[in-house]
Amino acid sequence: RIVYVNGAYLPEAEATISVFDRGFLFADAVYEVTTVLGGKLIDFHAHMARLDRSLSELDLTAPASHDDLLAIHRELVTRNGVDEGLIYMQVTRGAADRDFLFPAKVTPPSLVLFTQAMALRDKPAARTGIRVASVPDLRWGRRDIKTVQLLYPSMAKMEAVRQGADDAWLVEDGVVTEGTSNNAHIVTAGGTLITRNLSHAILHGITRAAVLRLAADSGLTIEERPFTLDEAKAAREAFVTSASSFVMPVISIDGMAIGDGTPGPVAQRLREIYIEEADRTAI
Ligand code: PLP
Repeated sequence: RIVYVNGAYLPEAEATISVFDRGFLFADAVYEVTTVLGGKLIDFHAHMARLDRSLSELDLTAPASHDDLLAIHRELVTRNGVDEGLIYMQVTRGAADRDFLFPAKVTPPSLVLFTQAMALRDKPAARTGIRVASVPDLRWGRRDIKTVQLLYPSMAKMEAVRQGADDAWLVEDGVVTEGTSNNAHIVTAGGTLITRNLSHAILHGITRAAVLRLAADSGLTIEERPFTLDEAKAAREAFVTSASSFVMPVISIDGMAIGDGTPGPVAQRLREIYIEEADRTAI
């Protein structure tokens, strides 16, 4: 596999980053994950807009223009022959002597990209649905910034799997924030789609935004507000959204079946129209 590191396309075994890189020492880095479908990029410009926001919230320097980043994404897709999968892009504050203070801007940011080819359109889990377990949300208070501090979500997913589930739903004061790497949604008995409103509490998912647009266009009533774990367990349907899972039905929470315990019609329909739209608009 060819990866991109600071201006060079290299075989992965030859790619290196400094041990003093602040991404490595302080998780002083932000990232984006963009989906490749049919060799094209889904929602590329929305991902770049969110990257700019993450960079500016942390006073990080943009490593390249959107046009240059698009060219690098496309070059990696071509070089690695990716038809379906993900492109991971990380920007760090770069290498500097270890110090809690940010170094002067003369330290150039580091830019790393790699591809992960994988089946996304026809994932078996999309047909069966996934089981989630609730785990306390012990992350920091700025989850809207897409940083590489992913240790706690990783621990939470380990805990969920230990409990026999597939993923965790993170819960704070009885309220669901989001999944470990996805946004959480429920559909009430009355057919209303409820999803957590945007704030510092959750990542502003690109897929969440696209799915809410499509849901509104198809006439669904949407409420953007916090919902409790109890409300979720009593919901008719539950699902998650992310760049890698699109729309993924949730069939149980803490072992309690959601609806009849099979993927719900709203989630399945939203998955279909999301993929149709992605195929139509990918660049
Ligand atoms: N929430 C968290 C914590 C995430 O890590 C992610 C994606 O990685 C998402 C939500 C979904 O965001 P997106 O739809 O942009 O992939």
